Amino acid sequence: MLIVCAEEAQVEAELVGGLLGCPSCREVLGPWGHARERVLRCRSGDRLLVPRRARCRGCAGTHVLLPEVVLLRRRDEVGVIGEAIEANVAGEGCRPIASRLGVPADTVRGWLRRFVERAELVRVLFTRRAVALDPELGPVLPACSVVADALEAMAVAARAWVLRFGPRPVWQIVSRLSAGGLLSRNTSSLATGAL
Ligand SMILES: [Zn+2]
Repeated sequence: MLIVCAEEAQVEAELVGGLLGCPSCREVLGPWGHARERVLRCRSGDRLLVPRRARCRGCAGTHVLLPEVVLLRRRDEVGVIGEAIEANVAGEGCRPIASRLGVPADTVRGWLRRFVERAELVRVLFTRRAVALDPELGPVLPACSVVADALEAMAVAARAWVLRFGPRPVWQIVSRLSAGGLLSRNTSSLATGAL
């Protein structure tokens, strides 16, 4: 699995042009059909995704190329999940967030619970990512709580990304830098996010 740019035409050009690297061995990935389709719940309504599949010319492993609008094993687009996390860190409760976003309260509760569990790991990872993107970066100042610190580290890393690669929605950068694993149970997927 590899999180890639949200623009399908660009991903296709990069894949065909041999510009995508294998997350396992860094050799070149080539096209290898498509993965099964899935429905993504977006602000604008349901969106059908048919992710591209790629095969490594080195280790022969296959990888599903997921657009950066998703997180692993989550049905909702990352921008919606991110908005819920931001609102909750700012003090809004689970139910009002859920009704505002049009998502079941249990789903929002699940996102927030997982984020709280992983906040320290997220803070460490994104601080590391931010420094890798911008070695001149000053210290990331502590906020008032572990979750606020994690949010701040993500914001700093996203700013460093934008300065280096150009504008992009913050939560899509977060998905890419966490390899889609921001809310995964498995911590190794979070740790392998590519720059
Ligand atoms: Zn490989």
